[in-house]
Amino acid sequence: MTETIFAKIVRREIPADIVFDDDDVLGFRDLNPQAPVHVLFIPKRPIATLDDAQAGDAELLGKLLLAAASYAREQGFSKEGYRTVINTHTHGGQTVFHIHVHLLAGRQMHWPPG
Ligand code: C5P
Repeated sequence: MTETIFAKIVRREIPADIVFDDDDVLGFRDLNPQAPVHVLFIPKRPIATLDDAQAGDAELLGKLLLAAASYAREQGFSKEGYRTVINTHTHGGQTVFHIHVHLLAGRQMHWPPG
């Protein structure tokens, strides 16, 4: 896959407001937040899109979701709730081809999404 700006964030070559960091997953604030809290969770080992994920990526994908849930719980969003989103390819609205889970919190979300 082609390297993206997120790989540079993982290597700390460009700055990001990092809020979660463990062996496999990095979480940082979105530069263009769509909610009072908008954090992106990415695997340090890149996968371009959900469409590229393989059975061997199951544990890493699970860790990505659990990282988002753990952060949301720790920040006190469990009661009011929050939204997690993975955009895939053009119709999904994906712009950065290093898989990421958006965590959006702090306001009422709506359905259907735009
Ligand atoms: O799901 P999608 O690929 O569209 O999401 C990419 C997200 O990455 C956008 O919300 C954008 O604001 C964010 N971004 C960022 N920092 C960058 C480049 C993109 O937070 N340097």
